[in-house]
Amino acid sequence: MPAPLPAIPGHAPYVGRFAPSPSGPLHAGSLVAALASYLDARAHRGRWLLRIEDIDEPRTVTGADRIILQQLETLGLHWDGETVRQTQRHPLYTQAFARLRAAGRVYGCACMRRELPSGPYPGTCRPGARIRPDAQRPTRSWRFLAEPGVETFTDRWRGPQSQDVAAEVGDFIIRRADGLWAYQLVVVVDDGAQGVTDVVRGADLLDSTARQRQLARALDLPMPRVLHVPLILNATGHKLSKQNHAPALDVSRPLACLQAAWKALGFEPLPVATPHAFWPEAITCWARRFGPGPGPKDRA
Ligand code: GLU
Repeated sequence: MPAPLPAIPGHAPYVGRFAPSPSGPLHAGSLVAALASYLDARAHRGRWLLRIEDIDEPRTVTGADRIILQQLETLGLHWDGETVRQTQRHPLYTQAFARLRAAGRVYGCACMRRELPSGPYPGTCRPGARIRPDAQRPTRSWRFLAEPGVETFTDRWRGPQSQDVAAEVGDFIIRRADGLWAYQLVVVVDDGAQGVTDVVRGADLLDSTARQRQLARALDLPMPRVLHVPLILNATGHKLSKQNHAPALDVSRPLACLQAAWKALGFEPLPVATPHAFWPEAITCWARRFGPGPGPKDRA
């Protein structure tokens, strides 16, 4: 592995990551997130990690992880260090859960999905709630006790954001009724354990950020900065996703793939003839828009 570049003087070291779920190969939309996250890491002379988010085993498609790795390599999106897989990290999640439980931030919930109204969880099983219909029912899932009040943060693409998690989402599930760890918990634990400083991903996850910040705070983990890139919509105006059968990315013409993802990020096509030439140009353009800027020591 090449030695990492030295951090930019006056700036904290940067650690980014791409965290695909292996529920299918990458599609045009996932490449946009991968490209933005890669460029942001390189523009900050940071490390770029690859984490396979295979915790939701029922949704895992055999062989999809191998295809994703090949697609990234073919396009020249080379990651740093070992690939991490969530299915090999259960002890970390167990520990985090125990910690939240010991702090009184978690409670067992007996509600079935079909019993619940759409919208925020009404707190039926909250400790001390008077609306629990039958206290004897067995626990199915485990919920995180949301903090009251408005969570505010800045998204590097979209600017100031706020969400009242308790009012808009309610206490949310961190361990599912099928026994699996929920995405919200594992993503926070992994980003913390891997020292991720910057999360760059698709805008569909913007709505999860406030929940993830509450979990990070409860676990005493630093909060990564966030940047959410626009989603690619299909002809019917829906997000391209594996669930709605977005076609797998055809990487037989790497430059065309990269230019299309670049254009989706709102940039003009780059006047380059090879993928090799694409990277330095793209990193420079990205750095101009989202780069670290002058560090405190470099400022006049
Ligand atoms: N695994 C998630 C996905 O593929 C991404 C999680 C994240 O970037 O926080 O949509």
